[in-house]
Amino acid sequence: MPNNTMKNLIHSCQQQLKRIGFNDSGSFYWSPQTKTVHYNSAALDTEAGCWALLHEAGHARLNHTTYLNDMGLLSLEVAAWQAAEELANGFGLGIDADHIQECLNTYRDWLYARSTCPTCEVNSLQVAETEYVCLNCSTQWFVSQSRFCRPYRMQLRDKKTPPESLQTVFA
Ligand SMILES: [Zn+2]
Ligand SMILES: [Zn+2]
Repeated sequence: MPNNTMKNLIHSCQQQLKRIGFNDSGSFYWSPQTKTVHYNSAALDTEAGCWALLHEAGHARLNHTTYLNDMGLLSLEVAAWQAAEELANGFGLGIDADHIQECLNTYRDWLYARSTCPTCEVNSLQVAETEYVCLNCSTQWFVSQSRFCRPYRMQLRDKKTPPESLQTVFA
């Protein structure tokens, strides 16, 4: 990717997404509440940084606001990468397909970690935004809402209430 292209990428994205804010805040994420793409300008010297910016711009273009469950989040991530590729193509750029698969695999791993029963390790059913129930042994557990939190599991007998809600953002 030529240097001038990378420097112009923010400008190009702004031209395509006129009602979206862009904020150099040190990390890459999309905030639906403030309609802002957050990015790390230092990382835009690298291809991976440019791809991350395009990915968040993809979330913004599709106006992703919330997701019903963990599988739903995974499908939004796939959609955001497709939108990112369309944006990239419009700028005469490309995104490495292996990079996209690696990113999606981190979500698949995350989903697997959340949905695996802590008691019997059977892959289980999500019954609410932050709650899973095992169909095999009936264990219930809660998971964090945010993609940014490390996946963790609390069994119902350990905690009386689920973790507090966090703002939904898209990495
Ligand atoms: Zn189980
Ligand atoms: Zn994403």
